[in-house]
Amino acid sequence: MYPDSMSETGFDASARIYVAGHRGLAGAALVRRLRQAGAEHLILRRHDELDLTNQAAVEHFFAEHRPDYVFLAAARVGGIRANSTYPAEFVHDNLAIQNNIIHSAWRNGTRKLLFLGSSCIYPKLAPQPLREDSLLTAPLESSNEWYAIAKIAGIKTCQAYRRQYGFDAICAMPTNLYGPGDNFDPLDSHVLPGLIRRFHEAVQRGDDTVTIWGTGTPLREFMHVDDLADAALLLMQRYSSEEIVNIGSGDEVSIAELAQLIAEATGFRGRMEFDPSRPDGTPRKRLDTSRMDALGWKAGIRLQAGIVSTYAAVVADRELPLGNIRARQIRSS
Ligand code: GDP
Repeated sequence: MYPDSMSETGFDASARIYVAGHRGLAGAALVRRLRQAGAEHLILRRHDELDLTNQAAVEHFFAEHRPDYVFLAAARVGGIRANSTYPAEFVHDNLAIQNNIIHSAWRNGTRKLLFLGSSCIYPKLAPQPLREDSLLTAPLESSNEWYAIAKIAGIKTCQAYRRQYGFDAICAMPTNLYGPGDNFDPLDSHVLPGLIRRFHEAVQRGDDTVTIWGTGTPLREFMHVDDLADAALLLMQRYSSEEIVNIGSGDEVSIAELAQLIAEATGFRGRMEFDPSRPDGTPRKRLDTSRMDALGWKAGIRLQAGIVSTYAAVVADRELPLGNIRARQIRSS
């Protein structure tokens, strides 16, 4: 946690700040955090207003608006099934989006850019917790290599523009994120929103059983997206290096433990079944956070409270398709 006023840390509140991907999970949280910090000039474009895979459109946008700061939170994202179903989109769209934005930001005088990556860039069997220097030391987990390869290329692009042109591009690697505004698709979402939806629907229908993909044994670290936004703003204000930076919470649970927390939050009292015919993905991907620790930053939202508040928010905002669940079914922590 750090000072709320952007000017206190030398960040000009009237600076033009472009948040790419502001309708996504991370981008929306960044907008909330920037507004809270007093940012006066946010530049935001929906997908139907600016196609980030279109180089000419992106160049035109940057030439016209010349943002001082860019948070690159736009990406094609999805869970373990989406990655293996749409490998072409995961490679192509992510490479195109990041190439277009990084290049045009540099060309049009952006002072600083923050690129958001992911913990899946690290090798499948790298030593845990995952340190930044294990990047590119061994093979990737195959279930999300398409996304990971694109994100690794994004890191390298930032490093190349810094080395050749002195462009202040920094790269942050968050652990698995969750929060309001997530994708709750039953098939293509990540595990946490996917299970919130599945348990929610089971409660609605009065089902006795909920099925969880895989064996339930993989370990995952989860971080509320508001913590990510806080950390990203800190990095934008205080960090400048080609070294990538992990952002983690330390909240690591097995998928079975996660399912139990979601069952409690949604009021599900039936049985959980595991489906080992579905892939487990990487066994573990906990991040080493020594670099963020050295900057004096720590995540503030614990997993159980974060799941309860996320569920309450998505029900209140009717983000779930069966969004008429009664308020008394929402347990408060
Ligand atoms: P990952 O962290 O990149 O592997 O992506 P996911 O969030 O998609 O999956 C994490 C783990 O949760 C994997 O072991 C999945 O098999 C498991 N899992 C269990 N149920 C679900 C579900 O309903 N959706 C998803 N996406 N994963 C699930």
